[in-house]
Amino acid sequence: MYDLIIIGMGISGISAAIYAKRAGLNVLMLEGNAPGGTINKIAEINNYPGFKSISGPTLAENLFESINALNIPYKLEQVTDVILESTKTIKTKNNVYQSKYLLIATGRTPKLLNIPDIEKYLGQGISTCALCDGPFYKGKDVALVGGGSSALSEALYLAKIVNKVYLIHRRSEFRGEDTLIKEVEAKNNIELILNEEVTSLITDNNTLVGVNLKNRKLSISGLFIYIGSTPNTAFLENTHIKLDNGYIVVNENYETNIPGVYASGDCLKKEVYQIINGASEGALAALNISKN
Ligand code: NAP
Repeated sequence: MYDLIIIGMGISGISAAIYAKRAGLNVLMLEGNAPGGTINKIAEINNYPGFKSISGPTLAENLFESINALNIPYKLEQVTDVILESTKTIKTKNNVYQSKYLLIATGRTPKLLNIPDIEKYLGQGISTCALCDGPFYKGKDVALVGGGSSALSEALYLAKIVNKVYLIHRRSEFRGEDTLIKEVEAKNNIELILNEEVTSLITDNNTLVGVNLKNRKLSISGLFIYIGSTPNTAFLENTHIKLDNGYIVVNENYETNIPGVYASGDCLKKEVYQIINGASEGALAALNISKN
């Protein structure tokens, strides 16, 4: 029986674990993928205090080291189900864990375009991670879809590696940060294609060779998709946790409508999805739990 189980080892879950452990709670962390979460997929972080610039994987490694330095136990197991009574029961494929409190910090997963064969070419011409897959397209032409800060910052990263980036956005204006927009506009190997949408893939012998847009056709070797994300909350389906479009609704203490169940980070219904508030929310949730 743990005091607190934290699902998710991204920056929010790890910040919570650090504060909970230091407050004397007996904590267990559960993670279905790699420790560090989404941060592992960010090429360069330039807006996290204390680091003029740091690569995502390096920050993820530092976070993981903090957990190990504090001897916080963790299991790399995907949570499949939770039963939320006065004791919280957390099920993974092979194990069952129990705790007094639960913190959900499971983040979110990139969305894909709704066009034929997208899943088939994912990992083979189509990617949602410029940092992971960008180097495969060195010196080639690629397209990137999206109009938010992720699309802009990853287009800038790709432009350093590839020959040319076509940045395709369905509107005439980007919704990302102004500084990123200016940097993208200044790059001579990023071509902006506005008011356009990808309608289908062009393939040859099971290889992606291009995309059809509504009004033109592009020859490319890779297609990167940055069109937002879906919260990782499907495992809460059988609970009565209040969700809004899949995002978890919490009060000012980061507690859900179920007593003893808290949430923080990118799986929350909120206004701002930044690394810094993911960290802050995790820490505050843990402090609130420790005060109970
Ligand atoms: P986002 O801000 O939600 O932007 C998603 C973009 O994808 C929008 O431009 C949207 O178009 C477009 N889109 C959505 N569905 C589409 C579809 N089916 N086809 C074509 N385009 C589609 O997502 P994000 O860029 O991943 O950013 C998420 C959060 O992280 C934001 O809060 C952002 O500020 C933050 N972030 C910050 C930084 C930074 O601070 N440097 C870096 C990355 C992310 P519409 O505009 O038409 O809706």
